[in-house]
Amino acid sequence: MAPFVHSQALHAATLRALAERGVSLDEIAELARFLQASYIPGLSLEECRHHVERVLEKREVQNAILTGVELDKLAERQVLSQPLQGIIESDESLYGIDEILALSILNIYGSIGYTNYGYIDKVKHGILQHLNDKNTGQVHTFLDDLVAAVAAAAASRIAHHHRARQEAAYPDANPPAWDE
Ligand code: MG
Repeated sequence: MAPFVHSQALHAATLRALAERGVSLDEIAELARFLQASYIPGLSLEECRHHVERVLEKREVQNAILTGVELDKLAERQVLSQPLQGIIESDESLYGIDEILALSILNIYGSIGYTNYGYIDKVKHGILQHLNDKNTGQVHTFLDDLVAAVAAAAASRIAHHHRARQEAAYPDANPPAWDE
């Protein structure tokens, strides 16, 4: 049988890659809280972090992060072939493959994820502002979109779980006509 990568190794490598690139899980959780706070009063950072951790357990998410971070690192070391080296290094605005890779994360969590992703990508809240700073000498062409997508996916997960909790608390909330 061909060798395969154990899921625990992939998960550990993903957490290492994020830490190594200067992104903490609390910073991603903060983005998720920023997205959901106005819909869920009292939403804690701990709850957001819990959902971020669950998102990071998905193999599709791990694959996307490891691929994107690797390309960022190679571009930073100037070892990619031209013209891709220049495109990724300069975060060329018409490239777009960084966003496409991030969509593979959003695909898992449905349409709320897309809206959240578009919004957080625009406002560049928290850690996203740092990742978009072009004066650090680091390349984060892929990582900024991946982090935004993980936060958006976590926010989507939070929204769905919140609704499930509401439904459990108010099982008779629907008017009788809806039951027909
Ligand atoms: Mg980008």
